[in-house]
Amino acid sequence: MADSESLGFEHMGLDPRILQAVTDLGWSRPTLIQEKAIPLALEGKDLLARARTGSGKTAAYAIPMLQLLLHKKATGPVVEQAVRSLVLVPTKELARQAQSMIQQLAAYCARDVRVANVSAAEDLASQRAVLMEKPDVVVGTPSRILSHLQQDNLKLRDSLELLVVDEADLLFSFGFEEELKSLLCHLPRIYQAFLMSATFNEDVQALKELVLHNPVTLKLQESQLPGADQLQQFQVVCETEEDKFLLLYALLKLSLVRGKSLLFVNTLDRSYRLRLFLEQFSIPSCVLNGELPLRSRASDPEAGVARGIDFHHVSAVLNFDLPPTAESYIHRAGRTARANNPGIVLTFVLPTERSQLGKIEELLSGETEAPTLLPYQFRMEEIEGFRYRCRDAMRSVTKQAIREARLKEIKEELLHSERLKTYFEDNPRDLQLLRHDLPLHPAVVKPHLGHVPDYLVPPALRGLVNPHKKRKKLSYKKAKAKAKKVKTQNPLRSFKHKGKKPKLSAKPS
Ligand code: AMP
Repeated sequence: MADSESLGFEHMGLDPRILQAVTDLGWSRPTLIQEKAIPLALEGKDLLARARTGSGKTAAYAIPMLQLLLHKKATGPVVEQAVRSLVLVPTKELARQAQSMIQQLAAYCARDVRVANVSAAEDLASQRAVLMEKPDVVVGTPSRILSHLQQDNLKLRDSLELLVVDEADLLFSFGFEEELKSLLCHLPRIYQAFLMSATFNEDVQALKELVLHNPVTLKLQESQLPGADQLQQFQVVCETEEDKFLLLYALLKLSLVRGKSLLFVNTLDRSYRLRLFLEQFSIPSCVLNGELPLRSRASDPEAGVARGIDFHHVSAVLNFDLPPTAESYIHRAGRTARANNPGIVLTFVLPTERSQLGKIEELLSGETEAPTLLPYQFRMEEIEGFRYRCRDAMRSVTKQAIREARLKEIKEELLHSERLKTYFEDNPRDLQLLRHDLPLHPAVVKPHLGHVPDYLVPPALRGLVNPHKKRKKLSYKKAKAKAKKVKTQNPLRSFKHKGKKPKLSAKPS
């Protein structure tokens, strides 16, 4: 990531309106890709940038795009309104994100720069009206853009100055290759182009030949994960399965892991097991079940993108189960420490899995000898006091409770499905049956377990951590009500990011 001597936004010659928007977004310095790409883009260079999601790549192309548009409008003779920039993305969701990012950066020049997203679910005709106004920037998927070009709703041959192909590798894997090639025939002979891609595979090379002219290649990060100054990675050996549950309970309950955490397990049943387990201690969690349609998967801003779910400000990733491969480790770890935010990854490992972890580490560390995942210093014996409660909670999570929790979610999905709405209107009895069926055997939440008595806090941690910080001692009735609330809460929707550096430095030894 950029160091203290890096080129700040204020030294890039940007329009004050862009700088103001950047300040409003709270970005104190450019990310590495922004630092490198923006000056080159402003010089008029074509760029091929290897950028992973979360690196700040959208702004890396959006900022120079806006700067060039504003510059043109400010200095040229009276310029005719025209579509000057085109951003191609592989999914509707990414189009929405890109549009939103560009609009946020253009917040202070919204009159001068209009941005349209033509990938949404609307029909072509209504989008035609938007395109007739010739927005300065058009964002969309290749198929949508091509349809508009073919129907003459959009004309780019005389006006396009900048083309951005975002997530280029995905465009191909999503089968947009032919559309992309046809689309290029509608573009002028000369334009500036940026190609952003997480990987440089053969498809991207082919696209590079088609779209870029003498590009500067930016392979910014050798490693696919941020450096140790930004991302702390730990491993902790747990002797038994039970120890994993025990440790997790203690880490969360003693606030040694703070902020929004993503817990990764290897099967869907395990995720429900974990949720029901944590529920016993009034620790709110929710399951991201890939089997359910998008709407019901904690659908925060970037859900559904092929690269996985990008929750903002995830401060900790906990590999409760060891990832099967180095790729999946990277994929999981990449959910935290996004942009310039810090993050931590804690991987639980059973003694039998040590060699597998070794393989992952080998691939992660590449040439260097240094261990990638530092041992997490934690004395299990200090949390022995929690074991009895842990066992008790584990016992409550029966196979039946898990099955019912899964079933319940599927039923809720059915009840809220827009598509099934008309069906239920015609068949109200089915709806009634489903409703009637809902509360099966909810796992018993024992309110007293939500509380950690002082004698259970490891002596070395007393005074350092306070599990009851800002929490009033609740009466039994209130604790019960809270426990009930926890069951229905979706923490990914409700957690607030306070911008604090996540803490994972428990060293009771
Ligand atoms: P992207 O890689 O474009 O998907 O961006 C990932 C996240 O980083 C987005 O939430 C951006 O708002 C955020 N971001 C982009 N640039 C910066 C920056 N210079 N400082 C802090 N956050 C940023």
